[in-house]
Amino acid sequence: SPCPSSQICPASPQNRPPPSSRVRRPLPITETLAEFRLTNDQLLEVKKRMRTEIQNGLGKKTHDNATVKMWPTYVRSTPDGSEKGDFLALDLGGTNFRVLLVKIRSGKRRTVEMHNKIYAIPMEVMQGTGEELFDHIVQCISDFLDYMGMKNTRLPLGFTFSFPCRQTSLDAGILVTWTKGFKATDCEGEDVVGLLREGIKRREEFDLDVVAVVNDTVGTMMTCAYEEATCEVGLIAGTGSNACYMEEMRNIETVEGDVGRMCVNMEWGAFGDNGCLDDIRTEYDRAVDDLSLNPGKQRYEKMCSGMYLGEIVRNILIDLTKRGFLFRGQISETLKTRGIFETKFLSQIESDRLALLQVRSILQQLGLDSTCDDSIIVKEVCGTVSHRAAQLCGAGMAAVVDKIRENRGLDQMDITVGVDGTLYKLHPHFSGIMHQTVKELAPKCNVTFFLSEDGSGKGAALITAVGCRMREQEES
Ligand code: ADP
Ligand code: MG
Repeated sequence: SPCPSSQICPASPQNRPPPSSRVRRPLPITETLAEFRLTNDQLLEVKKRMRTEIQNGLGKKTHDNATVKMWPTYVRSTPDGSEKGDFLALDLGGTNFRVLLVKIRSGKRRTVEMHNKIYAIPMEVMQGTGEELFDHIVQCISDFLDYMGMKNTRLPLGFTFSFPCRQTSLDAGILVTWTKGFKATDCEGEDVVGLLREGIKRREEFDLDVVAVVNDTVGTMMTCAYEEATCEVGLIAGTGSNACYMEEMRNIETVEGDVGRMCVNMEWGAFGDNGCLDDIRTEYDRAVDDLSLNPGKQRYEKMCSGMYLGEIVRNILIDLTKRGFLFRGQISETLKTRGIFETKFLSQIESDRLALLQVRSILQQLGLDSTCDDSIIVKEVCGTVSHRAAQLCGAGMAAVVDKIRENRGLDQMDITVGVDGTLYKLHPHFSGIMHQTVKELAPKCNVTFFLSEDGSGKGAALITAVGCRMREQEES
């Protein structure tokens, strides 16, 4: 229902909302949200703790018990522009499963041409057996090859598999644990390249040369590095949250050799799984975690990424309603529904251009009957949760860029971070707050963020191309 005409809706353009400090509202709401507002000291502490966990992940003796695993990726250099050929890429681990054909041309006119098709992975396949999952994947590849008319060529393939993997070479990755809603049985502890190759064999219909298993962060970094040589960091802020960067081989104690650099997939989403962030986690973070598919795991990711922000908001709204401060104290069936509050609604609600009346209409669409006051509170809850997410992500990134700077013994360093992810791209404030946080927490680094789209396709193809080149060099 619209705002009654007798009452001036605070969002009407003539009457902008006063600064939040002056809005009169019941104290419990302010108190509830205060827990989410991190001080500069707290953020510096988060940065410091991330640095400690990075060290633990890299160290030979500390790695096994480390939460931030710092997995070596066997990607030893960024592209040099000489990459060329036709490549298949699979993108598994994001919202959509995709099969891609990537055609890379080198020379004076470098071009990358991409064709892709999105395929659904039904919930029962995501959470069924591993064999069913990989049969499904291979069936999608089969359909795609038919569609492209390429079933008779043995194409090199890069498998973007965006889950924590213990890699022992470019083309071997053992799934450590599923995250983000996947749960297929008999995959954890297995080499996913092996599972894919077996799936292809079972079908007896076509052959492929699986060259590389690729994390989406690494693909994102490589895609950006193809355009901009100073890119040595990749960041994802989408369904999940993760980062990678070029680390010195001498610091990666889990891999033989001291020469040069290797890209490390941090798997920073697990930051906090040893309890080191418990002092800043709220009861709402704990509630989201408890009800998730992987309780206790990926605690940092659950505070920073698209899959969870809406759930944090929903839990706060339930609590405020229970305590009688929202929705006339009535907890609707809708509000009780897990996942109802998608992160895209946070983006819409927080948009500066949106009047409160429109916030109410969004809530209405969700089946939440709100008053003007309700919509002000909901907007503030959303803003507070996404602000903290962006700051936490920025604190992690500050730790990474400062580590790289110290590795290189520099007082001041310019660096580029390739970023992908819908939260970063579409949320009205996330990127700005994240950039600002990195600037404040790592003042000796001049960080440029470069939107790097389709790392899981283009980047996987580039890694595959580099892998093929390396293999040819070894053979000759
Ligand atoms: P993925 O990380 O799965 O590869 P994306 O980067 O596209 O894919 O991220 C998808 C996630 O982004 C969704 O799960 C959702 O949480 C979030 N998202 C979707 N739309 C929006 C939006 N408009 N604003 C902010 N986040 C969004
Ligand atoms: Mg993605």
